[in-house]
Amino acid sequence: MDCIFCKIAQGSIPSNKIFENDKVVAFYDIQPAAPVHALIIPRKHIESMNDVQEEDWEDIAEIHRVAQKLAKDLGVAETGYRLVNNCGKDSGQVVFHFHFHLLGGSKLGPANSQE
Ligand code: 5GP
Ligand code: ZN
Repeated sequence: MDCIFCKIAQGSIPSNKIFENDKVVAFYDIQPAAPVHALIIPRKHIESMNDVQEEDWEDIAEIHRVAQKLAKDLGVAETGYRLVNNCGKDSGQVVFHFHFHLLGGSKLGPANSQE
């Protein structure tokens, strides 16, 4: 399958990985939008939130477990951070392999703006 995040998860293209286990992989975003900008993805190819199946919720919960751990490890747990999932056209989703952004390390802009 021609999916950049599947290739990153498999290690067939390089990335700055921060964490991986049997369910999820985390790596730094190539175009950081904040001093700390990690992406956390399921190993399984799921296109978006709309495509999460009943059997996938454990993986999505694991993404949140890892996000909590990474926030501590990357030093933003105390100062604050944001977890973001873009789903579909209006959100600006660009990569259609489900992922959460973990953003922090400086004061973030408004989360709920409509440009
Ligand atoms: P989306 O808008 O789909 O939620 O965000 C996709 C994110 O993936 C963007 O922030 C973009 O910078 C990041 N990204 C796209 N291609 C690559 C890549 O090849 N490597 C890494 N590390 N990040 C990528
Ligand atoms: Zn994929």
